[in-house]
Amino acid sequence: MELKVVKFGGSSLADATQFKKVKEIITADESRRYVVPSAPGKRFSADTKVTDMLYECYEHASKGENIDVLFDNIRERYNSIIKDLGIDLSLEDDFCAIKYAFRHKSGRDYAASRGEYLNGKILAKYLEYDFIDAANVIFFKIDGTFDSERTNEVLSETLKNHTHAVIPGFYGSMPNDTIKTFSRGGSDITGSIVARAANVTLYENWTDVSGFMMADPRIIKNPKTIEYITYRELRELSYMGATVLHEDAVFPVRMMGIPINIKNTNAPDDKGTMIVSEAPEEATGSVITGIAGKKNFSVIRIEKDMMNQELGFGRRVLEVFEKCGVSFEHLPSGIDTMSVVVSENALEEKRDHIMTEICKAVNPDHVTIEDGYALVAVVGRGMVSTKGTASKVFSSLSDGGVNIKMIDQGSSELNIIIGVRNEDFEKAMNCIYSAFDN
Ligand code: ASP
Repeated sequence: MELKVVKFGGSSLADATQFKKVKEIITADESRRYVVPSAPGKRFSADTKVTDMLYECYEHASKGENIDVLFDNIRERYNSIIKDLGIDLSLEDDFCAIKYAFRHKSGRDYAASRGEYLNGKILAKYLEYDFIDAANVIFFKIDGTFDSERTNEVLSETLKNHTHAVIPGFYGSMPNDTIKTFSRGGSDITGSIVARAANVTLYENWTDVSGFMMADPRIIKNPKTIEYITYRELRELSYMGATVLHEDAVFPVRMMGIPINIKNTNAPDDKGTMIVSEAPEEATGSVITGIAGKKNFSVIRIEKDMMNQELGFGRRVLEVFEKCGVSFEHLPSGIDTMSVVVSENALEEKRDHIMTEICKAVNPDHVTIEDGYALVAVVGRGMVSTKGTASKVFSSLSDGGVNIKMIDQGSSELNIIIGVRNEDFEKAMNCIYSAFDN
């Protein structure tokens, strides 16, 4: 039997008009039985998300300042939704308890979590679904990491007693019963956790775009929407800066092989993007699934004659980075050279120290740091079976006059990473996109 978890992002629940669309979507398909809402998001571009209002309000409360006005603004956001939906619900007792808790320094995570909690209560009432407080079913361990096994046990048992339920996103509880949130955008993770616990056939993630685009629309004009993307491709693209879904939302469903469908609340008939373990045969239209990238990387280049014969050279270099708490992104190497690519941010004040330690550790002939690199990842499961992909990427760049500073292709042939100067980044993305846009 079909069973779906549906998660709605903040813009899908920003006001009563959006709530009405959400109800229409849910009631149009009776398998949409578990609903995970975010807090109300922006109604227009200059608006403030309720989560941000809560963080701000709590900051003032924790300094002992008066929060009456800020709190009333939050109350007003919810009350206007309730009024415009015409439902018989009062959240006054909750508002009182929350304001009291703010004044008694209940914690920043507790404060932020109330955005989803209150929105969940309204949505449950509006849909006539049960309300399950995430604090009772989503758990973190004492060290603050997510307790997936305990959560899965309790949540799957709990869901058996509710055929239709709303479970607010973004938060859960610590072993001492305090509230903890996931990182920003974490309702996506809650949706995935609920999908696993209920063992659903599909996790629908409703947002305000019709799926993943092949490239960032701020850089490429009208990029195509990706119809199918595998979990692994998605990881690569999200890591390189493509946003739509929280990076960690993939794990709970991936282990169960549950697909995620990214859908648009404002255009519900659009197919959106299907995130799957394996794409169907007919979906291998383009060799490239997507292109993403980020600016501001540094390359530490180490040269030493006969490096290739020096056992443990690489380990000693990487140990320096590990001890300095800097994780590396890529490691392109030649016979007598080794380059370590790290983000400029991570390097910050540690650069001198790292240089000294590398000299001590491996006594190189030369070591330099060059900043201002951008990385572009060309990702596609189709690369394995298609000859000439790399050549197409590189000729498109050379035709466009972009100087390639670094190339790294994983042995899985899922991606090619190209390093260019920051100032060539947008051009590089456009050249590559055009080469595969057929
Ligand atoms: N409301 C939270 C945020 O703005 C979580 C979410 O929407 O997923 O980050």
